[in-house]
Amino acid sequence: MSPETDREGEGLERRCPRLGGLVSFRYCLTCGEDGEACFKIFDCWWEKFDVVSYLKENLPPDQFARLENKQPKPKIQSILEIMEKVKNNVSTDREAKNQKGRNH
Ligand code: SF4
Repeated sequence: MSPETDREGEGLERRCPRLGGLVSFRYCLTCGEDGEACFKIFDCWWEKFDVVSYLKENLPPDQFARLENKQPKPKIQSILEIMEKVKNNVSTDREAKNQKGRNH
């Protein structure tokens, strides 16, 4: 951790959308699962400073990767995944009905 990047988060506070009150950046760094950073830390802090670069530089690579993977998918991607699942379920149902029809 370089002294310059270490100073970036110091003393910063914001209103937490989950808790409703003021929290420090330091709190956000450790309040997630297993004492890791909160999964919303990118969303909450990007307007205050370059939080992505800061975390990339200061967190162990595996912890940073976990944080990146926890970011919510864009809505359109989620919708496309749901549509694909529905399509697959419909084809499976049709195959099952066809199979049933052949057996009777
Ligand atoms: S990063 Fe998490 S704990 Fe910190 S302000 Fe955002 S939601 Fe709250």
